[in-house]
Amino acid sequence: GFRSRAAFKLIELDDRFGLIRPGQRIVDLGAAPGGWAQVAVQRGATEVVGVDLLPVEPVAGATIIQGDFNDPELPDRLRALLGGPADLVLSDMAPNTTGHAATDHLRIIALAELALEFALQVLAEGGGFVAKVFQGGSEKHMLLPMKQAFAQVRHAKPPASRKESSELYVVATGFRPERAEALR
Ligand code: SAM
Repeated sequence: GFRSRAAFKLIELDDRFGLIRPGQRIVDLGAAPGGWAQVAVQRGATEVVGVDLLPVEPVAGATIIQGDFNDPELPDRLRALLGGPADLVLSDMAPNTTGHAATDHLRIIALAELALEFALQVLAEGGGFVAKVFQGGSEKHMLLPMKQAFAQVRHAKPPASRKESSELYVVATGFRPERAEALR
C-alpha cells in the first residue's frame, strides 16, 4: 500500500499527463512520508532521489535524504546522488501552515520557486516539472519563466486533492534547455 494519500495525487497527475516513464531519473522534493517516491519506483523510475525535513522510512529503489531544501548545499547533494540529468523534478513541498492564508501562500510559492530554479539546472531536454502551488495567483511570476523554458505549462487539481483545499499543481513538460539558458 501507499504511505500517503498524496500518492494518489501523483498517480492521477501521471495518468493525465504521462510524466513518469521507465528508466527515468526523478527528483522528489518534500518526499515524506514517501508516497510519491513509491509511485515513481513502481512506475519504473531507475533513479529516485528525494529530500525532506523529516526522516523517511527507506523506500526500496529510492534514496531520500533528510535536509532543508532551503540549505544552499542541498541542490548539489541531490545532483551528486542523481548521477546525471533529471527527467522529472517533483515538488510536493509545503511548509507547516500558519493559518494565515496569505502567509502560507507566499511560503509555498517561495519553495516552488526554489524547486523551479533547481529544475532549470538539472533537467534533461524534454524533462518535466511538477510543483504544488495554491489557487490565488501568487505563483503568477513563476509562470513567465516556466512558459519560456517548457513547451507546455498547465495547472491541475487532481481528484485526490481535497476540494476544500486551495492547493493545485503546476505541471510543465517538454523542457527546452536552450530557452532556460537564455533566462539566466
Ligand atoms: N509527496 C509526499 C508523499 O507522497 O508522501 C507528501 C509530501 S507533504 C504534503 C510535504 C512535505 O514537504 C512535508 O513532509 C514537509 O516536511 C516537506 N517540506 C516542507 N518544507 C521543506 C523544505 N524546506 N525542505 C524539505 N522538505 C520540506
